[in-house]
Amino acid sequence: MIQDNMKKPNMLCVCPECKNVIDLSRYPTITPGMVIECNHCGMTLLIKGFDGDNVKTEIVDEGK
Ligand SMILES: [Zn+2]
Repeated sequence: MIQDNMKKPNMLCVCPECKNVIDLSRYPTITPGMVIECNHCGMTLLIKGFDGDNVKTEIVDEGK
């Protein structure tokens, strides 16, 4: 496993669904437009942007 914490800022992403902090260490980079999955509730989230160290996300509705 590659430990690559050096390149990543100390970003925090709170799941809008379950309000838990998502483990971003699974993702080597976090960029707007990419899709991540909440490791707590499994919700698919689209990265909208950043507010300081907070990652803003939007729930992706997959159930169409
Ligand atoms: Zn969640």
